Amino acid sequence: MRINISRKNRQNPFIEKVQELSGQNLLVCYQCGKCSAGCPAVSNMDILPNQIIRYAQLGFKDELLESKSIWACASCMTCNVRCPKGINIAEVIEVLRQLLLRKRKDHVEVDKMTNAEKEDVPPIALISCFRKFTS
Ligand code: SF4
Ligand code: SF4
Repeated sequence: MRINISRKNRQNPFIEKVQELSGQNLLVCYQCGKCSAGCPAVSNMDILPNQIIRYAQLGFKDELLESKSIWACASCMTCNVRCPKGINIAEVIEVLRQLLLRKRKDHVEVDKMTNAEKEDVPPIALISCFRKFTS
């Protein structure tokens, strides 16, 4: 993938929105990888937590919003406590989910599931497909 890094990139409204809603300064991340090293959900992710922060720094909106990682995240906060720069990665991921949920784009459309499917899926698995971090 070709990445264009420029001053113009940094003025991307998507970056500002993610920082504003999450309350996190994305620029302090120096890509140590400690967040990803402790994340219990990486085997189900296509973009690792440290990569999520890098993509957010660069304003890769589509890649992030289409990623399955934001739904695989269990909001366990392990990444938050491991980050030496104090970035709350889980909040950043919650913001990415929120941006989709505000457009009524859920990961799973419950109203389209059959009753048999609803009975078969553990409730916690369903909840993991919705908003999770409810601060
Ligand atoms: S632990 Fe913090 S500083 Fe390290 S890669 Fe993750 S977000 Fe960046
Ligand atoms: S909050 Fe999400 S990204 Fe962070 S360690 Fe837990 S599952 Fe991984």
